[in-house]
Amino acid sequence: MSSGGTDYHIHTPLCRHAVGDPIEYVRAAQAAGLAEIGFADHSPMPQKLDDWRMSIEELPRYVEMVEEVGSMELPVRLGLECDFIEGNESWIESLAGRASWDYFIGSVHYIAPGWDVDNPKYLSRFKQYPVDEIWGLYWRHYVRCIESGLFDFVAHPDLPKKFGFRPAGDLRRYYRPAIEALAERNVAFEINTAGLRKDAKEVYPALEFLELAYEGGVALVINSDAHSPDEVGHRFDFARDLARQAGYKKVCRFKNRSRIEVDL
Ligand SMILES: [Zn+2]
Ligand SMILES: [Zn+2]
Repeated sequence: MSSGGTDYHIHTPLCRHAVGDPIEYVRAAQAAGLAEIGFADHSPMPQKLDDWRMSIEELPRYVEMVEEVGSMELPVRLGLECDFIEGNESWIESLAGRASWDYFIGSVHYIAPGWDVDNPKYLSRFKQYPVDEIWGLYWRHYVRCIESGLFDFVAHPDLPKKFGFRPAGDLRRYYRPAIEALAERNVAFEINTAGLRKDAKEVYPALEFLELAYEGGVALVINSDAHSPDEVGHRFDFARDLARQAGYKKVCRFKNRSRIEVDL
């Protein structure tokens, strides 16, 4: 594990599918030699959507939990992983006013009402529908998520590969519109090492996406998407090598919703 990195995509038990107190994540980050971390738990939503996020009543507790561990020697940033669903933009805007956030992550999990594409409950749909249709739907939402201007960076770009289903051929046809939107809107994206722990068996996004993003001048951040303390900084050396392979020499850090670039 090389030192000096950051990990900005870390969950808490408030989302009901992560384990470990925030302090345990902070200790794991220190042990891994990270310079800075940030929590970004799944955002509350205006309607009861699913069972994998905090409620709006729990939001103050979340902020308090993160602030409690923020007084330690390791800088701890306050973020939120927001589900982008068209029609809910004003909800995200209202969340932005509810705390002193360091960054908002935009995520697309829902590709249709009631279908979160990474949920194993709906795995059979990958056999019911053509995979290129599922991917097409996902990437259209992903572009809108970027274009919304609500987020500092976007999460796990090619998430629909989670279970190992990929359309045939050159997948850059899906990546290009997203990368153009990122460049145009000056939004960053993450390498998310959780894909290595799933059937996809590679980081999100694929190397071809990284190469195109680098050519487009899009800023990068490397994250684990930890849902347990032992996942903090998971395989970051591998992710950094991949970023370098694509041409990257810088990654970014976030504070008060502004971004600075530091050496990779
Ligand atoms: Zn989660
Ligand atoms: Zn996510």
